Amino acid sequence: MKTIVYSAHGFDKSFLEAAAGDQHELIYTEEPLNISTVHLAEGCKAIALFTGDRATAEVLGKLRALGVRFIALRSVGYDHVDLEKAEELDIKVANVPAYSPYAIAEHAVTLILALNRKLLLGQQLMGNNDFRLDRLVGSDIHSKTVGIVGTGKIGTAFANIMHGFGSKLLAYDLKENDSLIKATGIHYTSLKSLCEEADIIAIHCPLTKETNHLFNKELFSIMKKGVVLINTARGSIINTIDLIETLDNGTIAAAGLDVYEYESAIYFKNQLNEPINDALFQQLRAYPNVLLTGHQAFLTNEALTGIATTTIQNLDAWERKGESENEV
Ligand code: NAD
Repeated sequence: MKTIVYSAHGFDKSFLEAAAGDQHELIYTEEPLNISTVHLAEGCKAIALFTGDRATAEVLGKLRALGVRFIALRSVGYDHVDLEKAEELDIKVANVPAYSPYAIAEHAVTLILALNRKLLLGQQLMGNNDFRLDRLVGSDIHSKTVGIVGTGKIGTAFANIMHGFGSKLLAYDLKENDSLIKATGIHYTSLKSLCEEADIIAIHCPLTKETNHLFNKELFSIMKKGVVLINTARGSIINTIDLIETLDNGTIAAAGLDVYEYESAIYFKNQLNEPINDALFQQLRAYPNVLLTGHQAFLTNEALTGIATTTIQNLDAWERKGESENEV
C-alpha cells in the first residue's frame, strides 16, 4: 500500500524499512502532518503518523479528498487525531496498542533517580573540579509513597519497578488491576488522597477530555510539600502555567517531564540556530529542579521494533481485508 510516513526521523526509518520489507511502498518526509503539508499525501492510500502530527478535522477533510483511507499511528496515544471526524469521513485509524511498556516505565524511573540524586548538578560540579557534596543530598526511595495515575500497561510496569525499590504504592485509575494488587500490594484510592499522600507522583494515563489539565492549581495545592512529579504520558494532562506557579511556591520539589503541553512546535527537530518562541518552555527549562527530555521515553530498540512491526501489520491487514484489529 502506498503510504507516506510523516515526521519520519532517522531513529525510526530503519525499523520501518526492516518491518515492511518490499511489501509496501513507503515514502518518508521529515515534515509533520498539518494543513500546509497535507498535500504531500497525494497519491497515497495510507499515511503513518507520529505524536507531533496533527490530524485535525480540516486536515482529515483534505486527506479524504486526496484519497487517503487509512491512518496508521506509530504510537499508543491517539489524542492527536480527530477520531469523530475520521469516522464521519470513513478513514480508518489504528494505533500500536502495546510496545515495550518497559521503555516508558524505565524512563520515568530514570527521571526520578536523576532528580532525586541530583545527577545533572553533580555532573556540572564534577566538570568544574568542585567535589563538595553539600548540594547533592537526595533521599531513599525505599519506603517512600509513590502515587501512580493510570495503571495500564506502562503504569503496571512502573509499579513493578517501584515495588522493587521497596516503595509504598498508591494508584488512581478508572478500573483496578487485580493482578497488580496481588503482585505489589498497590492500594487504589481517590486522586485527591493520592495527591495528599504521595512523595512521588507519576502520570501514566492517556490524554482525554477528562484528563486534559487534570493536574492543575487545585490538585497541586493539596500535594505534600516536596513532592516529585513525573509525566511521561502527555503534556496537556498538566496545566503548565499552574505547574510553574507551584514550582515557584516550592510545593513541587522537582519535576521530570518527558512531555510538554506545547511540544509539537518544538520537539523532534533540530532547532540549533533558531530561537524557541515559547516563553513557558523557556521558563520551564530554566529551573534547575526540572528535568526535561524531548519525548524520548519510548526510544529503545525494543520499542522501535514493536512500533514498526505493528504499524506494518496494520497496513498489511488493511490491504488484505480492509480492517485491522488495532482500529481505535
Ligand atoms: P493503557 O491504555 O495500557 O493504560 C492507560 C490507563 O489509564 C488505563 O488503565 C486506563 O483505565 C487509565 N485511565 C484512562 N483514563 C483515566 C482517567 N481519567 N483517570 C485515571 N486513569 C485513567 O496505556 P499505556 O500503554 O499504559 O500508555 C499510557 C499513556 O502513556 C498513553 O496514552 C500515552 O499518552 C503515553 N505514552 C507516552 C510515551 C512516551 O514516549 N512518552 C510512549 C507511549 C505512551
